[in-house]
Amino acid sequence: MLLTLTTTHSPATDLGFLLHKHPNHVQSFELSFGQAQVFYSEADKDRCTAALLLDIDPIGLVRGRRGHSGESGLLAEYVNDRPYVASSFLSVAISNVYGSALSGRSQERPELVNQKIPLIAKISVLPCKGGEGLLKRLFEPLGYQVSAKRHPLDEQFPEWGDSAYFTVTLQATCRLQDLLAHIYVLVPVLDNEKHYWIGEEEVEKLLHHGSDWLAHHPEKALIAKRYLKHQMRLTRQALARLVDEEEPDFEANEARRNEQETTLEEKISLNEQRLGTVVAALKSCQAKRVLDLGCGEGKLLQALMNDKGFEEIVGVDVSHRALEIAQRRLHLDRLPEAQKARLKLIQGSLTYRDKRLYGYDAAAVIEVIEHFDLARLSAFERVLFEWTRPTTVIITTPNVEYNIKFENLPADKLRHSDHRFEWTRIEFQNWAKDIGERFGYSVRFLPIGEEDGIVGAPTQMGILTLNPDL
Ligand code: SAH
Repeated sequence: MLLTLTTTHSPATDLGFLLHKHPNHVQSFELSFGQAQVFYSEADKDRCTAALLLDIDPIGLVRGRRGHSGESGLLAEYVNDRPYVASSFLSVAISNVYGSALSGRSQERPELVNQKIPLIAKISVLPCKGGEGLLKRLFEPLGYQVSAKRHPLDEQFPEWGDSAYFTVTLQATCRLQDLLAHIYVLVPVLDNEKHYWIGEEEVEKLLHHGSDWLAHHPEKALIAKRYLKHQMRLTRQALARLVDEEEPDFEANEARRNEQETTLEEKISLNEQRLGTVVAALKSCQAKRVLDLGCGEGKLLQALMNDKGFEEIVGVDVSHRALEIAQRRLHLDRLPEAQKARLKLIQGSLTYRDKRLYGYDAAAVIEVIEHFDLARLSAFERVLFEWTRPTTVIITTPNVEYNIKFENLPADKLRHSDHRFEWTRIEFQNWAKDIGERFGYSVRFLPIGEEDGIVGAPTQMGILTLNPDL
């Protein structure tokens, strides 16, 4: 089993400092399941490649001398793919042999650690039952260019067809510690077999090595499930905590949001105009059962509750804290039963399919999309337009062109520090039209707030209506 890491960073031999392994030496490490060697197949200033070779001792594994797997006596224990493929053994080797690089430490060159450098990782044999599609779904959202070559079962018998084994190359300009963390978590996910008992501490490892990226990964549920070997209790625990970890942001964000966005936008009391316009749009499409996706502290929910025309109202947010505030704002505990029955608050992420949200007349997504990073945005698109498919979808987002009108806003800043992007009118319209084409919705646009002849209105709204079946 071989993992090579290549960089063309200048000087490329910096890789030696990052890995804490001198390019001129071959080093051996005794691990519980076999031996690991690190050596450099090339090391000059333009290009440097470090190889980690694992020599797993399958007989030792079975006989219990080394990290025994539990079952016994089966031929499969002696004759199997474990010595040859990347698996959870590779993750253990990475944390033992490249431990300081994985945790982002470099004694000699600490400044290198946070530098994004061009990196290529090649895993010589990676088992992947889900095929190339799964490989891409796992690595591409993290920014890798993925190339994979599938191996035949047996070169001498091409009629036997393909195996589930790939040689995989991952390429990105990123921090080495991130690349190692991604491999550490995702190789066992692809292999879907673990050589040791899965317990609570595996949840900790997953959250630790996934801390910078897993919460935003569109496949986080699948990753957690497979990493934790389908143990549902642990998987639920891990996923719940991933969501939790985003939460402390809510109040801080909300306070900042109120300070930043509201003061910026207050002259025109944009928020109220926005709510009014959205409610009017929902009424004009005769929606009775509506979703408020990313409802935050519930201002739109409140406006909808005040209008008897809306019979069923569902607020969804990823943040428990936001939902608690919404619940208080709406005095949910004091409402008469008939009123209470109209409203439901659901904690959930808009980037995951959720059957509870199917079958509604309309969904409002108000000032939410700009909080998604782009990898999550595409998951959100599919979840909402391919699976949830409300008849009408109303989306609002800031119009970045208008920002020059906010005197207090520096030219290079967005309206809120948690916004991942803000779009021009053309950018938003192209995005929405593309969605319309892909998922069968007609699209129209309306400005919200005082409109300027050149830069447009402060908020832009898209109304997408499901095309009737022909
Ligand atoms: N619609 C509200 C809140 C906008 S702020 C309003 O107009 O006032 C954005 C909201 O989206 C926040 O409450 C945030 O918690 C929520 N959010 C961000 N990412 C989310 C996700 N993946 N799933 C569900 N809600 C999310």
